[in-house]
Amino acid sequence: MTDDEPAVPEIDLPGDAFDAVLDALEEREGAAEATEAGEIAETAETAEGTPEPIRFEGFSVARDGDGNGDGFRLAPVDGEPLTGLSERELHAALDERAPAVTDWYVFERVVGEFGPRRAFLRWIEDADGETVAARYAALAEGLERAWGQLRITATVTDRGERRYDVRHADDAGVPIDELDAYEDPLDAREIVTFDEKGRYRPLKTAPTLASGWVYPDLGPRDAYELVETVYPATVANWHREREGELDVTHWRETMARQSGIYGVIQTWDRGEGHEHVNWVAEACCDDSQCLKRREWEYDADTDLDVDGGDGVFPCREPCSVVVSAARTWTRLESEQPRTYEFELTPSEKAQIEDIIDAVADGRIDEIREADTREGANRYRARFLRAKRFDDAGNLGGVPTDPDDAP
Ligand code: SF4
Repeated sequence: MTDDEPAVPEIDLPGDAFDAVLDALEEREGAAEATEAGEIAETAETAEGTPEPIRFEGFSVARDGDGNGDGFRLAPVDGEPLTGLSERELHAALDERAPAVTDWYVFERVVGEFGPRRAFLRWIEDADGETVAARYAALAEGLERAWGQLRITATVTDRGERRYDVRHADDAGVPIDELDAYEDPLDAREIVTFDEKGRYRPLKTAPTLASGWVYPDLGPRDAYELVETVYPATVANWHREREGELDVTHWRETMARQSGIYGVIQTWDRGEGHEHVNWVAEACCDDSQCLKRREWEYDADTDLDVDGGDGVFPCREPCSVVVSAARTWTRLESEQPRTYEFELTPSEKAQIEDIIDAVADGRIDEIREADTREGANRYRARFLRAKRFDDAGNLGGVPTDPDDAP
């Protein structure tokens, strides 16, 4: 190890981790006995019906002999096994190897069953790629991961327990006492409902999560619960994708199954190409609007022409926000274009384009009142309205519908 490499912290073996090892050995004996008795026991038994050892990084532990002996056996991957260990001697041996034992304990017993939660918590510290020593050293310094707009910092206590600080990425480095601190993951339902300006957030994966809060000290299960509350189902879909089991439902299939007031969307797909769906994806699913990575396409054989984004978690089908917007566009896009004739100066045309850009990019609030060089400046917009709208609000005095002409 060089001076620059972080040191592996001292870990004391907690009593509950040691008890869990003894319990696991007992469970394995029970499973092995059941196998011998002809019962089905799919876990923790060898073909011969002797208990499977518990495997830690670098060594394994089992009962001595056929599993019914009095002592314990600790077998390093490289080297001579220690046999006939008393419970006290086993404890001492495991205490010397506390990082590996606590690592096993955290994921096997505290985090529990295989699935999205375990995969996610292991991903945070790259448990499937890094050694225990490397991870504990990194955890001692604070291991950071981004999930959408969340910043998750994982640490390890001197008993090998994992603790997580979760906050908005914009609050990285802000002292805890300058943020609103929470403990119960379910309280985050309030945080995610409104954006910074108090506006309702219909899309939970929009990059509009409010900042100013922190969960400074969560255990593994609560950390997972919090992420699920802030970004529902994102871990489950990320996990499915990693397992090669993400079931994607493309645009056509999703729209074909709409019914009731949304059934009309089916009429938007007229077999004349998918340009309209490109526009939908560009409008709604771009990284600037949604943190999910769009995996759905027009149909299984036809990819959209716009990028799906770089989000860490995938989007498996058009969401309700997109479906609802598509219903509006289906109606609007059924209109035929018309030619309108009115005069604008070149600057006025450019200004209208500036206004559309500023609204589409959500930049209106950034444009200063005094900055009249900006086309979307409020005074500039008011000037244009005063000059070019008639009393009925028609641009250039031209009615939108010719039938409305005076
Ligand atoms: S459909 Fe688009 S906007 Fe909706 S969740 Fe998926 S990527 Fe985001």
